[in-house]
Amino acid sequence: MSTAIVRIVSELRSIVAAWRREGLKIAVVPTMGALHEGHLSLVRAALAKADRVIVTLFVNPRQFNNADDLAAYPRTEHDDAAKLASAGAHILYAPDAADIYPQGFGTTVAVGGVSEGLCGTFRPGHFDGVATVVTKLLLQTGADLAFFGEKDFQQLHVVRQLVRDLDIPIEIIAGPTVREADGLAMSSRNARLSLAERNRAPRLAEILVQTAERLSSGQLIKRVLSEAQEAILAAGFSKVEYLELRADSDLASIVRLDRPARLLVAAWLGQTRLIDNLQVALPRPEVVHQAAA
Ligand code: AMP
Repeated sequence: MSTAIVRIVSELRSIVAAWRREGLKIAVVPTMGALHEGHLSLVRAALAKADRVIVTLFVNPRQFNNADDLAAYPRTEHDDAAKLASAGAHILYAPDAADIYPQGFGTTVAVGGVSEGLCGTFRPGHFDGVATVVTKLLLQTGADLAFFGEKDFQQLHVVRQLVRDLDIPIEIIAGPTVREADGLAMSSRNARLSLAERNRAPRLAEILVQTAERLSSGQLIKRVLSEAQEAILAAGFSKVEYLELRADSDLASIVRLDRPARLLVAAWLGQTRLIDNLQVALPRPEVVHQAAA
């Protein structure tokens, strides 16, 4: 099957309108391209739930708070289109920046609450850029379902919040983080790691797994997190921006593991910033009992 490449919103809208007349269910998977298995897992999940799948490819300048990061971002549209064709996606919507943000564009979607802290602290303006472009892409595609990865867990919450607040009639579906065989969360930015860095990178996920286990076994949150931070630095990362335990459902800060939680991290390996996160299981009842005793 071939995947049609569409660049103009009016063309996209007329294809979607025809699908609607046929009563088809439509899904969208927003991406910035340089597609890997993480993206493709979302495309497959979308194909399983919808009749037609639109994958958007837009390297959104407004969500980059660092010009070098934007310039270095991989652009591989030809390969992406081939991967989408073999996955069975119906449309690759790859608009130009000048069409998404034409002269005179003046609106910013700023989501409060969930976009504060974590990446929101270290990447000023990032979530405004994400929220603005995601709002546009959801409205432009008019899809019934939109798929986002848990890899970007805070982003997933930002998107859920904006859809709720703005009454956008779309269901947000999350897909689990897809990892390399050694545990490293797949990311388009992993290609920037040197060989030595690539060999060290999986330690981040390993430390998250060990830390989540220690937390679930009832050990003191503060101490476990500070030891994990030291372990990340000892593994060769140059800086830990944050390592935090938050509530899974709304990203609220938590000081006790009394509800489903998420461990979230951002750390630099050389010139590359990596993020990852992991669900933390609630302590087993006997652990809670011991801690209370
Ligand atoms: P990006 O192209 O990095 O903006 O990502 C596009 C979508 O793919 C987002 O919803 C991401 O959360 C998701 N994604 C990126 N990497 C992964 C991964 N390793 N596993 C699952 N989803 C991912």
